[in-house]
Amino acid sequence: MFCEVYLLDAPYALDRPFDYSLPEGLHPGRGDIVRVPFGFQDRLRQAVVLAVKEESRAEKIKPVHSILRPAQFDEEMLGLCLFLREHTLCTFGDAARCILPPGALREKLNISYRRSCILKISPDEAELLAGEGKGRLRSEGQREILRMLIPIGSADYDLVRALPGVTAAHIAALKNKGVIDVGYAEQVRNPYAAYAAERDRTEVALTRAQNTAYETIERLYLEDAARCALLHGITGSGKTKIIMKMIDRTLADGKTVIMLVPEIALTPQTVGIFCRRYGERVAVIHSALSEGERQDADRRIRRGEVDVVIGTRSAVFAPLAKIGMIVIDEEHEHTYKSDQDPKYHARDVAAYRCGVHRALLLLASATPSLESYYKAERGVYTLVPLKERYGGAKLPDAVIVDLREELRCGNTSPISHELEDRLRAVSERREQAILFLNRRGYNSQVTCRACGDALTCPRCSVALTYHTDKEGGRMLCHYCGYTAPVPRACPSCGGEKLAFLGFGTQKVEGELGSLFPELTLMRMDADTTGTKMAYDRMLEDFRAERADLLLGTQMVAKGHDFPKVTLVGVILADTSLYVSDFRANERTFSLLTQVIGRAGRASERGVAVIQTYSPQNEIIRLACAQDYESFYRGEIAIRRELAYPPFCDLVTLTLTSEDESALFGAARRLPELLKEKMAAPEYQSQPLVAFGPFEAGLYKINEKYRMRMVVKCRLSVSTRALFRSLLSDFSSDRKVTLSVDQNPNNSL
Ligand code: ADP
Ligand code: ZN
Repeated sequence: MFCEVYLLDAPYALDRPFDYSLPEGLHPGRGDIVRVPFGFQDRLRQAVVLAVKEESRAEKIKPVHSILRPAQFDEEMLGLCLFLREHTLCTFGDAARCILPPGALREKLNISYRRSCILKISPDEAELLAGEGKGRLRSEGQREILRMLIPIGSADYDLVRALPGVTAAHIAALKNKGVIDVGYAEQVRNPYAAYAAERDRTEVALTRAQNTAYETIERLYLEDAARCALLHGITGSGKTKIIMKMIDRTLADGKTVIMLVPEIALTPQTVGIFCRRYGERVAVIHSALSEGERQDADRRIRRGEVDVVIGTRSAVFAPLAKIGMIVIDEEHEHTYKSDQDPKYHARDVAAYRCGVHRALLLLASATPSLESYYKAERGVYTLVPLKERYGGAKLPDAVIVDLREELRCGNTSPISHELEDRLRAVSERREQAILFLNRRGYNSQVTCRACGDALTCPRCSVALTYHTDKEGGRMLCHYCGYTAPVPRACPSCGGEKLAFLGFGTQKVEGELGSLFPELTLMRMDADTTGTKMAYDRMLEDFRAERADLLLGTQMVAKGHDFPKVTLVGVILADTSLYVSDFRANERTFSLLTQVIGRAGRASERGVAVIQTYSPQNEIIRLACAQDYESFYRGEIAIRRELAYPPFCDLVTLTLTSEDESALFGAARRLPELLKEKMAAPEYQSQPLVAFGPFEAGLYKINEKYRMRMVVKCRLSVSTRALFRSLLSDFSSDRKVTLSVDQNPNNSL
């Protein structure tokens, strides 16, 4: 007998099936992880079995060494690996590792065992021993132990030992009598277990508008075929309630649900709502969990102990059986696309899995991605609109402030007069405000007044940002973390006059502190949150009204629901507008719409103050009006005109090297190779336009130089094969790395 395997750590050129023979007594099956000898000195490597067969045409055939993990991948998971390999151009090993929780391929699994006391007799017998009647145990300590174990069957040894009046001798005595066992039991590390304790099973009561939306979604769900609904609801319309009712509906059928949310929306508040509702049948998955916690969640899911998985991007791979629905909340979020191998989009993986399970894919957003809305327009997805806010809450009034006008009046502070007045009013009414600025640090740049050069990072081709600290401030690179004290003189010309330009969250914090000493301000950005815990705690503090103002980067923009917030200020709306990525407009619109939508979610009408240097800008105006449809019309016309997604696919080919001359060599070779391959007979002449190579928008990052080609084409079997063969050609290059990203987040 033979088997066909994919190596888990194969480089590109070796990413194909290999045959091995099966020694006497070894019977691996499809989906097992095995150890096989490979290459130099027959070093043992891990591989996945794809097929077991009776014949092999391979010449030199070696035997499988051993089985490491039987049945690690079921049929769906194997299909998913092959899907990822084909569609994201990664290796089989990259796909397999991505599907499993981190550390799952280590030789020894991360399982935590706890010493436990386990009841060995039936609860009825135990009741008799623990009771007050005839046949009871004489020792009060022993009876106490039984009273604890009867309802739960087993308990942590240390907890039993800590019961009042119980000693180790009591436990030992029960063990000697054969009433309990003391042994090691697997412990599930679930940091969310405590949430499940308080239960909330109230029926979701929907408004009429919400119910209409719900019924459309339910109808699709009942079609028993892979379907996709795009729930387009304005901010505050109650999308979460509809999703919740759909989850109830799906669980009632004995099916399971995956719900994806963006990292920053996965707060204890959100998780708490779902854990209270679905109890211990929920698993929460995100990158801040420890390896052990991730693996325990994975084991619970595999054992069928979980019906609802809530998590960030990678939760889309959760090995649930009988999936009835996959929800992607805030579906436009760019974090659903991975930019590391496998460079997958969670939406594509979800669609694939829904196909396998004949399940419903439910996308929800106030500002859907252009790709999704376009699909909905053409009837590929079913559009489910929700146009009113819950409880009659009105959309916030938006006021646009022209910052050029402020400058003319001599106000150089990042807080305009308008915003200052409104903040004062909020403070008098004892309400709360959120201020948004997409730039952390104190100043955005430091430049030399003599030569005009900005201080740049020695490892990256980007300007350094000035941050204040206790020692008088430092320069920091936001890309690689490089940091240095502020120099006395300009490194280029020696000039001693340095100008500190622009403003970041730190500077705004300082300004607000001097304008409103009586208000408590909380600054939330990558510098102050640090860990997920710190971030969660700050949001909780703000909700509990322990602060009046919340100032921050996009962390404050999304999905949070603060009823006391009646004012939202955007310190500078222009920051992402003029980046020349084709998605810049979409990002700006979506971010502004989300931020503005934070205001006035309760009965009070909210106000949004938008400060900008370009008050006539159409995108800003439409975001203020929360007018997605008009934004979509304008933007989709531009995309069509310029042939950008969704009208074609855009693929970047990025060459990276520490050695600039090797990079230039590769940059000459790449377009020639591309041309050659397109001329080959097996290439099915798909139209394909290539631009470049040119220096990437960020040419140098962390000592590595990057050149890039951009290709516009239609992704197909044939174009993917072409890119795959380019990757294979470059995989032997020691100095230059080629990476291919399809419809990337960033094409600069
Ligand atoms: P969205 O996600 O669409 O912006 P949310 O789901 O956060 O909106 O809802 C906004 C607010 O309205 C929340 O506080 C939510 O609890 C409340 N809400 C929405 N629908 C209902 C409902 N049917 N019953 C009770 N409260 C609701
Ligand atoms: Zn740097």
